[in-house]
Amino acid sequence: MVFTINPQSPLRYQHIILDRDGVVNHDSSSYIKSLFEWRPIYSSLMAISLLCRAGIRVSIASNQSAVARCFLDLNELYDIHSYLQLLLHNLEASISTIQFCPHLPTDECKCRKPKPGMLASICSIYNLTPGDVLFVGDKQSDFEAASSFGCDFLFISNSPQADFIRTANIRVFWASSLYQFVRSYSYS
Ligand SMILES: [Mg+2]
Repeated sequence: MVFTINPQSPLRYQHIILDRDGVVNHDSSSYIKSLFEWRPIYSSLMAISLLCRAGIRVSIASNQSAVARCFLDLNELYDIHSYLQLLLHNLEASISTIQFCPHLPTDECKCRKPKPGMLASICSIYNLTPGDVLFVGDKQSDFEAASSFGCDFLFISNSPQADFIRTANIRVFWASSLYQFVRSYSYS
């Protein structure tokens, strides 16, 4: 798969949906189990602020099997998301909708990525088609969710090399960070 290194401006999208862990905040191989362990990527917060100021809605679609694994309860998860919104409020920004899948991979739910359920749900809320949306993620399951939903995908990674990204029905972009992607269009 050849990535599009210079994609069209994100301004063409009405709505940008973000994976959370690894895109908005630093990921952890041992799950993020509390607000104490949640560490924002500050440049991503600025990128979200730039998008909001450009009139683009930003939402989140996040797998959180840590809930089903009893590593954190819903109150702790809501505290993390409230804190995220508080940080963004100080940047005159907000996340429009935060959707999370609390299930295990074995639960066969319709929401856990790589299934596109959360993307479809967010689009239903805002009456959007897949063509209106860019999904941003850092894992194979994110790419597969975007591909099966039919929306464009921005792959966040230190390297544009990824065996799992195949020629697909969608356009695939690459950037080392959300901020790099958004800032290259220099909103002001
Ligand atoms: Mg991720």
